[in-house]
Amino acid sequence: MKKLFAIFGDPVSHSRSPLMHNCVFKNLNYKACYIRVHLKDGSRLKNTFFNLGLSGANVTVPHKEAAFMACDEVRGFASKVGVVNTLINENGKLIGYNTDADGFMFAIEEFGEIKNILLIGAGGTAKALVSRFIEDNIKVDVLNRGEKRLSYFKDLNCTCHTWDGFKTKKYDLVVNTTSAGLKDEELPAPQDIMEDILNNTSFVADAIYGKLTPFLKLAKKKNIIYKDGADMLLGQGVLANELFVNHALQKEDIKIWMQHSFRLS
Ligand code: NDP
Repeated sequence: MKKLFAIFGDPVSHSRSPLMHNCVFKNLNYKACYIRVHLKDGSRLKNTFFNLGLSGANVTVPHKEAAFMACDEVRGFASKVGVVNTLINENGKLIGYNTDADGFMFAIEEFGEIKNILLIGAGGTAKALVSRFIEDNIKVDVLNRGEKRLSYFKDLNCTCHTWDGFKTKKYDLVVNTTSAGLKDEELPAPQDIMEDILNNTSFVADAIYGKLTPFLKLAKKKNIIYKDGADMLLGQGVLANELFVNHALQKEDIKIWMQHSFRLS
């Protein structure tokens, strides 16, 4: 019987995940189909998952923390950070994983050794990435619009800032994990702050993919080497697909067909 997978998000229409996973399933003859589900209310995640008869799912903005709450069991890195981006139906139980952080480490390999990072944003993606950076002994400062979500990062001994009175330092890498620029033309922080930050960094990375965000446009204008979230998307997608097929397909083959899907869009 064909298995059904999905991505939950709000917004979700921009997601390339259906194309990526369907390209793998089709070309590697795995009997499965992957759809988009526009979910506004994160508390309905679990019911919707089982009502649709899903075998697994990905979760995107803004439901990754709700996904963690919805799980019967959370495994690996996801249990450490409280953020879930991949769900598996294991005999009627909802099992949660996080593949975002490893996907991001894969994406920044080409920048070489990174010792200190300014991470902008304090949502689910930020939590996963910061915890992963700390595991790799990278020093992280966090900058977020609001104060509320910063307590998690203070507990990890990160230096945390809101926009008020923020003064930049020299960073190897600045990462945007906010959704500013996803569906609008906003910078992740006010223009003067962003100018200052980008004048003091070697590399820039955005979690958003598929468009040149205002953040990346500014980096480009300043001749800073930058990358969007496409490689992170590829990395997290390959790892999620391995979980979906319960390791029945070779990781290298999954990667080849996911990369192929990027050329189709
Ligand atoms: P969350 O909703 O959990 O967090 C969003 C964060 O963005 C919060 O810190 C919020 O600040 C901040 N924010 C939202 N709007 C603005 C704005 N206009 N200006 C400044 N800050 C803002 O989202 P996620 O962490 O799940 O996802 C974040 C982004 O990363 C999304 O764009 C998503 O598409 C992308 N992503 C890409 C992946 C990839 O594979 N390439 C994987 C995962 C995510 P506040 O606390 O003040 O509300």
